[in-house]
Amino acid sequence: MQLDSLYQEVILDHYKHPQHKGLNPTFDAQVSHVNASCGDEITLNIKLENDVIESLTWDGQGCSISQASVSMMTDLLIGKTLHQASVIVKSFSELMASKGTSTGDALILEDAIAFSGVSKFPGRIKCSLLGWMAFKDVSIQAQSQ
Ligand code: ZN
Repeated sequence: MQLDSLYQEVILDHYKHPQHKGLNPTFDAQVSHVNASCGDEITLNIKLENDVIESLTWDGQGCSISQASVSMMTDLLIGKTLHQASVIVKSFSELMASKGTSTGDALILEDAIAFSGVSKFPGRIKCSLLGWMAFKDVSIQAQSQ
């Protein structure tokens, strides 16, 4: 897989120095998702303060794409409202569905546009979406309590 070298660096940096890794023992909901085709595993939990994401922590193992993507996602979503988070998640999902035709909206996605090149590689899209799908799941569960 060939990605733009700057983007490659951003992804590797998150892989080597994962953000918000280590599960917060206090949470409103927790989910575990796996991407069987690659062997990636992510457990993600969330704590809300009204509709603001107060804590979003994870643990997991797998390829650099899956682990860097969830690291970047937590960085991006903590402190946001659930509505703001849903806009960001939708934008990232659209980017991953773009088959390499979109460069991503940097105003919404910030550093996560580093994953734009991944959308050209169908086998890796599930890796980069794993944490984001887990977030959709955990945020719904947290709200239904
Ligand atoms: Zn993977």
